[in-house]
Amino acid sequence: MKTISRTNSRTSIKGPAVAPPSVDLSAAEPSADCALCPRLVEFRQENIRTYPDYFNAPAPTFGDARAKLLIVGLAPGLHGANKTGRPFTGDYAGDLLYGTIAKFGFSNDRYDARPDDGLVLKAAAITNAVRCVPPQNKPNGAEIKTCRPFLSAQIDGMRQMRAILCLGRIAHQSTLAALGIKQKDAPFAHGANYTVPGRNFSLFDSYHCSRYNTNTGRLTEAMFESVFAAIRAHIDAGG
Ligand code: SF4
Repeated sequence: MKTISRTNSRTSIKGPAVAPPSVDLSAAEPSADCALCPRLVEFRQENIRTYPDYFNAPAPTFGDARAKLLIVGLAPGLHGANKTGRPFTGDYAGDLLYGTIAKFGFSNDRYDARPDDGLVLKAAAITNAVRCVPPQNKPNGAEIKTCRPFLSAQIDGMRQMRAILCLGRIAHQSTLAALGIKQKDAPFAHGANYTVPGRNFSLFDSYHCSRYNTNTGRLTEAMFESVFAAIRAHIDAGG
């Protein structure tokens, strides 16, 4: 298995993954009071006391189950999705993500960092590997694993999907686990593009569009747009 370093290269992943036989998106959303992760529930209660006007619940997937692109982030930001209730809405990462989404035709370009801004995604949906805000933006391994069934259900329910974009290594690893693919068969790399066996979609990777990554130059706007250009071309070509 070669490591991919450019968006115009593609690798097929080995493995027996097969599409699930049925669609059940009801399993893709945790309840507002999901209590499966004790540390995150404790943090939620703390945030309810500190920020009573915030959303303070698992952030639901934004977008349509008929979407052709699913973007998977890490987890809600404390003053982003945990405040507004919509993934990547209200924090720094959202500015770059939603601006780029619009540039490549995946939205109506109405993003204004508010859940009532009129933004509509076009053939795209956005979710997180972990639905509750973690302290210091760092979910632990148990929390990532515990929340994975919701990600699995989301993926399995999107039968018209042609591409998954994983933002960062943790989103990539949790998505692979959700798909039953070994990590060694599809290592994370910015710009990687994998054909997923037994499914009608490919998996794309990007560094997370966080403030840290953009401020340090790890991820530039050009690098991010290059990934979206590859996804757009892939979807427009019929996936
Ligand atoms: S992170 Fe996921 S599994 Fe854990 S409490 Fe939140 S919604 Fe439930």
